[in-house]
Amino acid sequence: MFKRILIANRGEVAVRVFRACREMDIEPVVVYSQADREALHVQLAEQAYCIGPARSADSYLNVEAILTVAQATGCDAIHPGYGFLSENGDFADACQQAGIAFIGPPGQVIRAMGNKAAARALMQRAGVPVVPGSDGPVTSAEQAREVADAIGYPVLIKAAAGGGGRGMRKVFDPEQLAPLFEEARLEAEACFGDGEMYLEKLILRPRHIEFQILADRHGGVIQLGERDCSIQRRNQKLLEESPSKALTPELRAAMGQAAVTAARAAGYENAGTIEFVLDQDNQFYFIEMNTRIQVEHPVTELICGLDLVREQIRIAAGMPLSVGQEEVELRGHAIECRINGEDPAHGFRPSPGRVGFLHLPGGFGVRVDTGLYPGCEIPAHYDSLMAKVIVHAPTRLEAIRRMRRSLEELVIEGPATNTDLLHQILHHPDFVRGNYNTGFLEEHLDILLAWCGSGEEGQV
Ligand code: ADP
Repeated sequence: MFKRILIANRGEVAVRVFRACREMDIEPVVVYSQADREALHVQLAEQAYCIGPARSADSYLNVEAILTVAQATGCDAIHPGYGFLSENGDFADACQQAGIAFIGPPGQVIRAMGNKAAARALMQRAGVPVVPGSDGPVTSAEQAREVADAIGYPVLIKAAAGGGGRGMRKVFDPEQLAPLFEEARLEAEACFGDGEMYLEKLILRPRHIEFQILADRHGGVIQLGERDCSIQRRNQKLLEESPSKALTPELRAAMGQAAVTAARAAGYENAGTIEFVLDQDNQFYFIEMNTRIQVEHPVTELICGLDLVREQIRIAAGMPLSVGQEEVELRGHAIECRINGEDPAHGFRPSPGRVGFLHLPGGFGVRVDTGLYPGCEIPAHYDSLMAKVIVHAPTRLEAIRRMRRSLEELVIEGPATNTDLLHQILHHPDFVRGNYNTGFLEEHLDILLAWCGSGEEGQV
């Protein structure tokens, strides 16, 4: 087993990985930017090194600085968390070349799945259903027009290197195809330095259902059930739950099997997620694979009882999976709410600054993953995730009630947060019935915000 792991990340996930290391008797070494001097992960760690200025490109994406710290401190592995360098295949390779294990899949697998057009083609060959769309990349608006005519409108223009919902455009009107194609391509070039595009049929009002998988170096591949991540704003997840109300046992088994097939086809190793959209007729289609630990992983941890970061570390150290598929038992219901430092009443504008008083919820079945502490400063340079509240209960309704009371207990003085909005979502009759899709938030935002303003819960 590793002796010392460098955690190449910040915020709640740095704390999350730190805790797993401590429990495994591995020394965590953390790094931080100048804006994060007072961050929780820095305060917890005995070994913390500044790797550069606030700007991510100068610090958390600074491969040279990170590898230098890892080597100088004698780390034998690096955990990249999510975001930053976690899905950078060249970074994974650079770690291996420096004799340091990268806690994630091999670089070539990251690259193969990182090109979503190529991943789509691979899955199609493996017999995993994909959304009808282009065979490979689409290089011009003209070609896009041909593909769209063949698959039928509406279509979705997507960036092969895409992430975070960027470089994506919905097209309902053929007249709009050419201008939107150019717009999406420019956005992809600006965001990812890669303007490769492809086309999919736009599935109307789908659910976003993803499966957690684990794969070791010895041919072991298991799936740990699904997460329903359909509560999204602008393609960004806000609330996730497992199990999904949309799946029957038969559909769950079929999708789980497809997820395992997908992971095997990718030659996968470590923790990963197979994302699907599920249409109104219960047909499911692969959309992409995420080759990292995800923000919403605790939802799965609570229903399967496995520590996924611990599993990641064990796999990277060459150990076999600690459980086989038949030993996986999914119990009860889990929900996660992402508490973001943003102001829903003012167009979700970011709300960095200093936290004053802080009270985090607790009690039976409640977990909070966060880098917050009273008086901490939230820098403006990074994403807006402040905390994740995750609850577990025997049934979905009990989990909803537990989440409502947890959010009622949460007090963050200072920056604006989306807590109230999440609380209102948990009171919306369609949510309570489990009757929602990726259009839910946009469709109900006005009424949810009005409920926030009124200081009263909606219905139910
Ligand atoms: P990103 O990597 O940018 O997050 P994804 O391919 O994962 O992009 O898609 C993000 C979200 O967009 C999904 O969660 C889903 O809600 C929606 N989406 C993706 N593909 C389709 C599709 N073909 N039809 C309808 N919605 C889609």
